[in-house]
Amino acid sequence: MSAQDSTLITGISELVTNDGALVTDEGGPGGFAALTDAALVIADGTVAWTGPASRAPAADTMVDASGRAVLPGFADSHAHLVFAGERSAEFAARMAGRPYRAGGILVTVQATRAAPDVVLRANLRRLAAEMLRQGTTTFECKSGYGLTVPDEARGLALAAEVTPEVTYLGAHVVPPEFAADPAGYVDLVCGPMLDACAPSARWVDVFCEDGAFGADEAAAVLAAGRAAGLGARVHANQLGPGPGVRVAAEAGAASADHCTFLTDADVDALTSTPVVATLLPGAEFGTRQPFPDARRLLDAGATVALATDCNPGSSFTSSMPFCIALAVREMGMTTEEAVWAATAGGARALRRTDIGHLGPGARADLILLDAPSHAYLAYRPGVPQVAAVWQAGRLVAGSLP
Ligand SMILES: [Zn+2]
Repeated sequence: MSAQDSTLITGISELVTNDGALVTDEGGPGGFAALTDAALVIADGTVAWTGPASRAPAADTMVDASGRAVLPGFADSHAHLVFAGERSAEFAARMAGRPYRAGGILVTVQATRAAPDVVLRANLRRLAAEMLRQGTTTFECKSGYGLTVPDEARGLALAAEVTPEVTYLGAHVVPPEFAADPAGYVDLVCGPMLDACAPSARWVDVFCEDGAFGADEAAAVLAAGRAAGLGARVHANQLGPGPGVRVAAEAGAASADHCTFLTDADVDALTSTPVVATLLPGAEFGTRQPFPDARRLLDAGATVALATDCNPGSSFTSSMPFCIALAVREMGMTTEEAVWAATAGGARALRRTDIGHLGPGARADLILLDAPSHAYLAYRPGVPQVAAVWQAGRLVAGSLP
């Protein structure tokens, strides 16, 4: 099929467009919205038309969804995919009662540093393909398991091969060789390491947590990254209350991620600024921690995104449907809110307006569910229901009915 060909998908029982009335200051997608008995036309990689199936225009190719649902592709705005090794034994031990500590990251750092490019690239591509098959058409990918100038730079160069949403996370943890000089490591992260990494990255991130980086260090990392032209994101308030959300708000970050332990002041900061609260329930699942209170954030008016946090330590899932199911069952979200958060919310967390919705003009990133409505993603947890995936109008995974 050439780029000029148009495709009509008709017979859609529920077409989630996210083109509701709630239009944002940034002009991004609106709130959850869906059409029933709908059709959609793809042309030139974008959505050309949506409306009732009975009024669908002709197109070069026709796909009959036969009463299935169509959704925007998932936007997974938080993932750590450049690594080697695995930590299933650590997970099993934790499930047997040992608490999670941020230091476990160093096991992966050791394996990643020792791995040749070909191993890192193969692992990264396997995970990216796994995401695509599950309906994720945009994903963010962080460095953070190299923690030397050359290892962080190569991690980001590899990530840039598979996604434009590349995040420099030199400030993941202080590596052992700087244990006696954490300030020296922050200087490295803000100086020579940033210089080597910024050309491959769009974002800078910092793990602001006890055992990782404090408020002043995190603010310094974000300020240096922003001065180098990177947008800011923060790992905030995951393991306990702390300054992460405040640091994110003060830095003008696009997203504060985790948000598991929040004070009222943190919630205020998330509602009074454009910072998206990105919730990562795979991490709470994988560490048997309390889930974040999405209901509290939504009721306060915060913008909530869902993402996988895919990483070998705390959350080794690449499945957005799994995160949606957890959000609905454990975090007080409605099925509509969870699907919005996994699509338009993720787009918002990445400051993208071209994805996360399916109004005319949007990038034609969409999924055909083998189910009649979006609710099935939570209603049938653990069941693979993504039948076909289009990215920029091209069928890239699954098969047509
Ligand atoms: Zn993370």
